[in-house]
Amino acid sequence: MRRIAIIGSGQAGLLAAHALAQRGYTVTLYTDRSPQEWLERCRPTGTAGRFEPALAWERELGVDHWQSDAASIEGVHLTFCLAPPNRLLTLAGKLAHPGKAIDLRLQSHRWLTDLPAAGAEVVHESVTVERLDAIAAQNDLTVVAAGRADLCNLFPRDAARSVYDKPQRKLAMIITKGGAMGFGGVPFVPVKFNLFAPWGEVFWVPYHHRDHGPTWNMLFEAREGGPLDRFGGARSAEETLKIGKEVIRECVPWDYEWARDMEVADPNGWLVGAVTPTVRAPVGRLPSGRVVTPLGDTAVSMDPIAGQGANSGNKMAKNLVERIVAHGDRPFDAAWMTDTFEAYWARHGSPTTRFNNLFLEPLPDAGKQVLVAQYGSNGVRTDAPQKIADAFCANFEDPARCTDIIDDTGKARAFIGEHTGSHWLLGVLRGAMGVGREQIRQQLGGQPRHPLAGMTGRV
Ligand SMILES: Cc1cc2nc3c(=O)[nH]c(=O)nc-3n(C[C@H](O)[C@H](O)[C@H](O)COP(=O)(O)OP(=O)(O)OC[C@H]3O[C@@H](n4cnc5c(N)ncnc54)[C@H](O)[C@@H]3O)c2cc1C
Repeated sequence: MRRIAIIGSGQAGLLAAHALAQRGYTVTLYTDRSPQEWLERCRPTGTAGRFEPALAWERELGVDHWQSDAASIEGVHLTFCLAPPNRLLTLAGKLAHPGKAIDLRLQSHRWLTDLPAAGAEVVHESVTVERLDAIAAQNDLTVVAAGRADLCNLFPRDAARSVYDKPQRKLAMIITKGGAMGFGGVPFVPVKFNLFAPWGEVFWVPYHHRDHGPTWNMLFEAREGGPLDRFGGARSAEETLKIGKEVIRECVPWDYEWARDMEVADPNGWLVGAVTPTVRAPVGRLPSGRVVTPLGDTAVSMDPIAGQGANSGNKMAKNLVERIVAHGDRPFDAAWMTDTFEAYWARHGSPTTRFNNLFLEPLPDAGKQVLVAQYGSNGVRTDAPQKIADAFCANFEDPARCTDIIDDTGKARAFIGEHTGSHWLLGVLRGAMGVGREQIRQQLGGQPRHPLAGMTGRV
């Protein structure tokens, strides 16, 4: 059987390794972390909240070991703010299938431990470019799934597709225990976003922690110099959570009671940094002239703002495996690598990076109209605003569904008209009246009465 080498024991590399081993390929996975190192000494590389299409492939491979225990992401709740504490509107969309965010340390530990029994060889080694050349000489195909580590520089940045050449947000992530797994007034457990037009975004993801199970993974996406941009000096999980609570108290007071008594889940469960969103070429050339192909974050790395990196990695890995199988005994050359990546890019990569980048920019008019038309969604209604909110939410699962609608006024209007069964303007006017009413109320010193806006209690 053909020989395939994979570098990296993150989600993308391990899923590809399991899938190829199951299909009878001779797989060798090179990892600079042992299973124990993953579990006991590493930080998670991200939150990696995943939605149905990505999870479906894990089920298909039989590696979904935490599906029944892990907290479910049942939907998405967004609060849009202009200048806090003013809240402009809320969206409460339900997912048709629950999402999951599994602690990547637990996941890589298990998937790496199980790999030899699945038929693959595991080599504990930090692979250099020189070694990569030797590995490529011994294999029919070599896949680099090394995340954003140095080896990614083998693959030239694709300037046209990358859009940005520097980070758009300063990031902080902290895993917490002790928070109620829900919010008063929300009839489901959401990923809860708070978006502040001038400052950045914060969001709370239901999470399955390696020791504590159901927990919250909190992300802070700060625009430089704004009031969320305070984590640069954080040196520990404790410091990150302390700053996070201060941010919540001052900028997201409606979530403060929920967060006030949270504690850090473990000393390694935090990150502070930034990501330059980057799309790379699908072919890397080694000193010998041999070629290797990238997978996961090595190929496409995104800001975590819309939770798409790991989802995209799963879809890329599935596409790669299907293309390997379909290619039979022919050579895995540069042309095949390019065709393989282009198939992923057309179906998933392009809409996903566009959707993700939309969150980094001021919302286009089309998106604003969709959000106003869904005003009133609360996760239990079944009318037009709820259907629009649910459709928006489904875009996190598959960004090919609605990204055009959020970005194109004509498509947004057609979409609103289709869901409301009337002229699009009526749907927008109805929502705008509700938003306007609550703005007046807030200007007069009252609390907004958005559906689900009073979420300070616990359930
Ligand atoms: C704060 C944050 C939150 C996020 N939230 C989400 C989310 O909610 N949803 C979502 O879909 N995505 C999210 N992401 C993105 C997601 O976490 C990543 O896309 C995903 O984990 C990347 O997986 P990977 O396997 O490509 O790379 P990695 O997880 O980085 O794994 C690469 C592996 O390769 C190893 N390696 C590197 N170099 C070498 C070498 N030379 N030799 C041997 N091994 C090597 C590394 O040690 C590592 O184990 C988030 C990212 C961040 C930073």
